[in-house]
Amino acid sequence: MTATGGVPGAVPTGEAHAPGARGPKGTIPLAVPNIGELERRYVLEAVESGFVSSVGPFVSEFERRFAEKVGSKHAIACATGTAAIHIGLILLGVGRGDDVVCSDFTFVGSVNPIAYCGARPVLVDAETTTWNLDPVLLAAELDRRAAAGEAQPKVVEIVHVLGQPADMEPLVDACERHGIPVLEDAAESLGATWTAGRYAGRHTGTVGRIGCFSFNGNKIATTGGGGMIVTDDDDLAARARHLTTQAKVPDVGYLHDEVGYNYRLTNLAAGLGLAQLERLDEFVAAKHRIATRYDEAFADLPLVLPPRVDGLAATYWLYSVLMPAEDGRGRDEFLGHLTGLGVGARALWRPLHAQPPFLTAPVLGGAVGDGLFGRGLSLPCATDLSEADQERVVLSVRSFFS
Ligand SMILES: *Cc1c(COP(=O)(O)O)cnc(C)c1O
Repeated sequence: MTATGGVPGAVPTGEAHAPGARGPKGTIPLAVPNIGELERRYVLEAVESGFVSSVGPFVSEFERRFAEKVGSKHAIACATGTAAIHIGLILLGVGRGDDVVCSDFTFVGSVNPIAYCGARPVLVDAETTTWNLDPVLLAAELDRRAAAGEAQPKVVEIVHVLGQPADMEPLVDACERHGIPVLEDAAESLGATWTAGRYAGRHTGTVGRIGCFSFNGNKIATTGGGGMIVTDDDDLAARARHLTTQAKVPDVGYLHDEVGYNYRLTNLAAGLGLAQLERLDEFVAAKHRIATRYDEAFADLPLVLPPRVDGLAATYWLYSVLMPAEDGRGRDEFLGHLTGLGVGARALWRPLHAQPPFLTAPVLGGAVGDGLFGRGLSLPCATDLSEADQERVVLSVRSFFS
């Protein structure tokens, strides 16, 4: 048994995250970046090259390699995942007064950009198989609007939560039937794929007109802060580059032909990102190993374990379980028990329909998201979580039920 990173073949990082990354009193963190020698080398190279800002060789190399990895024609690096979604919505024509459908059960970063555009989110509940946007509710709403002669949403934003791909075929079918473009929020699902059906072999984020990713510190691969837009559409890609660089017209002195954004990723951050991308398969394998270990260790407990769905290759970005509905004790009691034992567990998100800025947004369903929030929590699953710490998580969870 080793006390340090338990990932075979990993660049040796030991315990060398940011000082204090393990949290107060040796708490096992929920998810921390896995930064090693390769990352150090590329970032140093960026520093020494003098290209530290939003122009530089690492940015274009990161974009090229990212597009290659997920199988999209273009990739445009952005300052954050939220910025990527904001630009993605603008690219698809979202503006003041439009409706945009979005998953109700997701992180707020999915929906804030809809508000930035002056549009109105229409929140659609999750289904219980993948915990993602319910295709039945979506189809019913789009069909209802068509029958009533109401305006359709400008975009349907499909989120793949917790590294779990959505049930994409019926979602896309409903959107195509009504001519509505799909934007995928793949912020949490880099590395996840479909393995059967129409999208077999495809990565999340590459099925819709536009896909968006995040490289925030807690995501499976990080640039410190960053995001990516992917698309197969040449015109959308060109316009994404234009809008993220202050809408500057190339080769003309300070001419900006529309209101743009300073949303480009820096070369420093891209150096970090390129190293992380080269290690992505290692990270996905580590998440799988941890998920399998936990699944086996909890198989006899009354917990609902993360979805394992045929045809979907999830990454288990955050390994999340649900308290049994029939257990008299609540999720908070479970969370308190784990926290007391130094296990950095965290509740799943409060659904968007219950968030103050979105209380007036139309919502279809909502009970599934309420249940996921009320019963769900995520367990520590950093890609370099040691064997010993995994064992501590297992014993801490088991002791709640014994
Ligand atoms: C992290 C996240 C975002 C936002 O990404 P940032 O890089 O933090 O701006 C958006 N959507 C989802 C689902 C996320 O998890």
